[in-house]
Amino acid sequence: MEDQGKTEVVNLTGSCFCRRLTYKLRLDSKDDARTSLCHCSNCKKAFGGAFGLTAKVPLQSFLYTKESGTPKIHSADNGSGSIIHREFCNTCGSYICEYGDAVKDNFRYIAVGSLDDPSALPPKGEFNCIEREKWMPEIPDVFHKQKIKE
Ligand SMILES: [Zn+2]
Ligand SMILES: [Zn+2]
Repeated sequence: MEDQGKTEVVNLTGSCFCRRLTYKLRLDSKDDARTSLCHCSNCKKAFGGAFGLTAKVPLQSFLYTKESGTPKIHSADNGSGSIIHREFCNTCGSYICEYGDAVKDNFRYIAVGSLDDPSALPPKGEFNCIEREKWMPEIPDVFHKQKIKE
């Protein structure tokens, strides 16, 4: 019997700039990923951009490939008492993912720009809009939170 309610599995790949680190992302459905912008100062520093752009995915959906190198991990207090771990390439420095201590066994926040097809996971919302760069307009038709929790 056909399972009409079955959602479509999404298979994506990604890597750092020099491709020493490569990974696979296998989502049971597109809804398993929540892509968002974050305008906080930590994200600006970590991404070297005007905002952070990550996709929150279940840990088991994210896997470095067999051929891949090992990421370098940087762990530090983000300023509010939470330890944030960031994984990046030891050779080219590209940022692959991050996760807080509290969710490290459950989720990864993938740097969307590291996907081979970043447009596969468009944003669903924006966090910390209070720190948005003045020249940057709001993204239409997504949620907007002034702070991280509200
Ligand atoms: Zn690299
Ligand atoms: Zn942030």
